[in-house]
Amino acid sequence: MLKHFHNEALTDFGDPTHRAAFADAVANLESKLGKTHSLVIGGKEIAATNTFNSYNPANPSQIIGTFAKADAADARRAIAAAKDAFKAWSDWPVKRRAKLLFDTAAIMRKRRHEFSAAMVLETGKPWIEADADTAEGIDFCDFYARLALELQGTIPPITQVPSEHSELFYIPLGVGAVIPPWNFPFAILVGMTAGSIVAGNTVVLKPASDSPLVGRMAFDALVEAGMPPGVVNYLPGPGSTAGEELVTNADTRFITFTGSKEVGLGIIKKAAKIQPGQIWIKRVMAEMGGKDTMVIDNMADIQAAATATSAATFGFAGQKCSACSRVIVHADIYDQFLPLLLDHARKIQVGDPRSFETGMGPVINTQSLEKCKKYLEIGRQEGRLSLGGKMIEQNGGYFLEPTIFEDIKPGARMEQEEIFGPILTVMKFSGGFEDMIQLANATEYGLTGSIYTNDRDRINYAKRHFHVGNLYVNRKCTGALVGAHPFGGFNMSGTDGKAGGSDYLLFFTQAKSVSELL
Ligand code: NDP
Repeated sequence: MLKHFHNEALTDFGDPTHRAAFADAVANLESKLGKTHSLVIGGKEIAATNTFNSYNPANPSQIIGTFAKADAADARRAIAAAKDAFKAWSDWPVKRRAKLLFDTAAIMRKRRHEFSAAMVLETGKPWIEADADTAEGIDFCDFYARLALELQGTIPPITQVPSEHSELFYIPLGVGAVIPPWNFPFAILVGMTAGSIVAGNTVVLKPASDSPLVGRMAFDALVEAGMPPGVVNYLPGPGSTAGEELVTNADTRFITFTGSKEVGLGIIKKAAKIQPGQIWIKRVMAEMGGKDTMVIDNMADIQAAATATSAATFGFAGQKCSACSRVIVHADIYDQFLPLLLDHARKIQVGDPRSFETGMGPVINTQSLEKCKKYLEIGRQEGRLSLGGKMIEQNGGYFLEPTIFEDIKPGARMEQEEIFGPILTVMKFSGGFEDMIQLANATEYGLTGSIYTNDRDRINYAKRHFHVGNLYVNRKCTGALVGAHPFGGFNMSGTDGKAGGSDYLLFFTQAKSVSELL
């Protein structure tokens, strides 16, 4: 089955009909914004006592929607509903569960611009980025459905004891908590949910508070495809209350989390504490932040490296876990590389992502903008500002110029901490290639990395020694494709879950070995 998997094609925005269709989807969604959305527990819409709003970060006066704000009691109810649904759902043949995902993918495919439009308005994604996010979500449904079909049935052991018949098969775990971030509000949320349920588990899905509408639309697609009540329960609400209950509840069997290091490590710690009545060890997949580095060697295609560095840094305003945040450039080519990079960055059109021409939109919210401002100060203290560094006033949106700092020294905060905004640290390096890789490795993270060099020995060296979960050679460090680039990080970047890879579903299952005396 997996042999026949193909990545969803991206929309060709060079075609005016596609541009018109996308613009229509955005306008159509805008005309319907501002609705109130309930929790969905056990298939029932439940209005909560408290609510919260989701806003357009490019124009915060625009309310995307009002959402029920789940509390700990709602989370307990949602877990109970998932537990009720588990028995029947885990009994569904894998083929039927896979079909639900194929049907969901078909629905998403048919209406793909609707999901992308929601990301433009709710998270400030430019069109191309939003379209890629939707395509990735569709890929996850299709890929995990095919993977589940490959994993079904019994597997003979490596050896058989002569007097016995032995076999092994994979069974689901139980009730899971799905806790995604806002930055890939569709793809990551859909992937973590699809992987969980196709393996036979039931879940409570708590979308990030900055992107509850996108989460609701993905949930609705599953319902439309025929998902039984309670298999996924939709629970918007604060991580600190609703999310915390999902993590600590005795009935939660696993947690699949993608987000910041601080929250992820907290979840790992809390999930390790055994609650009264809990009879299992909770499994946690925690995919977290990065300080992703591109290494530009003196034997590199300098023009290609500069183009890729700019794209990897400023795509979605630097708000990808894989975004390039520091670039280490060999001193021999530094003076050629830097002007090219600055030239690319200067040309990026910053503004409202409703317009196709916009290359970079806002950061997600005021807290994020404040954090970026703090790093602008730190950057000025630790290095030299070469580009940008200012906010852009436009409809009160959270806009920041593409920003580049030079002369940052090893160990500086700018080159160690995840910033999650359009701010790049450039480091000039004199020395050997091995030392360059050592410098690239010298953070607590290990998510993505890229090297630019035409030297085969150096490529081979980097393959062995550049310690990141996703290494790219002579291409940018963003843009992982389901199937081709299984995604997950080392060190403090996470548990190396390898989303979109052939091992991914094993996390959501347990293997049962059965031996019968003949
Ligand atoms: P956060 O860690 O702030 O939030 C992620 C999710 O966790 C949200 O749904 C959030 O809910 C929830 N949450 C917050 N506190 C708790 C808690 N105490 N218990 C349970 N759940 C909680 O991350 P962001 O959403 O800001 O996402 C950005 C981060 O994600 C970056 O660090 C980025 O690098 C990382 N990331 C990693 C990826 C990877 O594959 N390695 C991919 C994409 C992003 P709420 O929104 O309500 O606070």
